[in-house]
Amino acid sequence: MPRIDLQVPFSEKEDARRLGARWDPRQKVWYVPEGVDAAPLQKWFPTPRAPNVRAPWYYLASTLRDCWSCKARTRVVAFVLPAEHEVLYIGDDPADDCWEVAGEPTLLSYVAHVGDRVAAYLRTGAPHYNVDFSQTTKTFYWINHCEHCVAKLGDHFTCETRGEGFAPVTSEQAAAIRLEKVSEIFSASCGTLTCGLEWFADAQRSDAAQQLDVSSNVGGWISRLVMSNKYNYNK
Ligand SMILES: [Zn+2]
Repeated sequence: MPRIDLQVPFSEKEDARRLGARWDPRQKVWYVPEGVDAAPLQKWFPTPRAPNVRAPWYYLASTLRDCWSCKARTRVVAFVLPAEHEVLYIGDDPADDCWEVAGEPTLLSYVAHVGDRVAAYLRTGAPHYNVDFSQTTKTFYWINHCEHCVAKLGDHFTCETRGEGFAPVTSEQAAAIRLEKVSEIFSASCGTLTCGLEWFADAQRSDAAQQLDVSSNVGGWISRLVMSNKYNYNK
């Protein structure tokens, strides 16, 4: 595992040292040395990127896949956003950045950061889906873990490999995908957006698509977003 560099303010350097961080004088950066528990140092992990996708509500999609480690079938989840979600387009000039309505349902993968309310919902709705370090991408992102052995089940196999997880090639695989509608404002910083979901209409019609009345009270970082006329993302 490559080392994790930290963003430690000068005034907090003794706290970081006490918790196990080490100073690299050549690169002038604090980092987590090999064998040190990174959890107590998380407050100094690099700042998450600003959100680049948002929606007035979302689906938590789930299906089953085989664990590569213990070989058992295990539940995996992913976010699917409705057609009215918006994507941030970055212009050459920051003044040109704008949110555009996507127009079709989209599956998210390599999600680096989600809003606090979404994260709170996942703690009970999908406790095996949480932020972890990927050896493949060398980044932290929301990764599924096996329900049985806690092995990491990365998004390449879960979301991008045809015939697996959320990229079904048979009607049986498509029918296994369940959509749970969460009436909660959504925002995330996300690496990959997959549209053209052939299985979406069937999954939406299935009995499992259910409305959850999760009351919405998003605060904090989402208030920094550009406001949309159509939805009140700041409520
Ligand atoms: Zn397993």
